[in-house]
Amino acid sequence: MAGLEENLLAVRARISDAARAAGRDPATVALLAVSKTWPAADVRALAALGQHDFGENRAQELLQKAGELPDVDLRWHFVGQLQRNKAAAVARLGAVVHSVDRTSLAQALGRAGEGSGRLVDVLLQVDLGGPEGELGRRGGADPASVPELADAVAQLPGLRLRGLMAVAPRGEEPRPAFDRLAALAARVREDHPGAVEISAGMSGDLEEAIAAGATIVRVGTALFGDRPLPCGGDRAHQPHESHR
Ligand SMILES: *Cc1c(COP(=O)(O)O)cnc(C)c1O
Repeated sequence: MAGLEENLLAVRARISDAARAAGRDPATVALLAVSKTWPAADVRALAALGQHDFGENRAQELLQKAGELPDVDLRWHFVGQLQRNKAAAVARLGAVVHSVDRTSLAQALGRAGEGSGRLVDVLLQVDLGGPEGELGRRGGADPASVPELADAVAQLPGLRLRGLMAVAPRGEEPRPAFDRLAALAARVREDHPGAVEISAGMSGDLEEAIAAGATIVRVGTALFGDRPLPCGGDRAHQPHESHR
């Protein structure tokens, strides 16, 4: 708990410093805590410290964690690749979906939104490219197709288009990629004035994202600690160790 609190304060300070350095009001940058791989107890502890928004990247894990926390006032976000057959369950939680990258997924979420009578907030995930072989690995729509996808999403009655999301490409300076994302977001906003959010920046590059105009930063490691290696690696698991 002490570690979590320390980490939360440090991340908030990084966000404030980056916003001020960019001439922005820190209140215009929201912190999304990405709790993937961490237990519901950590979400509960962080929520008790005032953190409201939490993100997951696997539907199964999101549903399970949400089921363990029915009494906690928080808002879920989904930031991973989403299968159409999981769309309704994710929408039912009232989750904001950051990773819409194709019309078929938008339609499935739209039907879920209509069926539940609650609009589903969505962001379009943009593939910012990267070294050969990595393209598409993390999901995301081709930037050239994003304005068209935005038009399609805006026409679906069950959805509310909130903005764009991206992960910085590996092996490249993040800032130019975030600038491309911000330019695309401005273009989308011309036709869809409600699409104000830019979800960009993680533990390692949130300063660059905020400088480029991010309104939501998605932070996991710097809050919760290093995630355990996926396949039983030999590195000891260090819960809540400070990231910097
Ligand atoms: C895991 C994840 C994050 C958080 O990454 P950290 O480097 O741990 O801060 C942000 N966005 C997405 C899409 C993720 O999958």
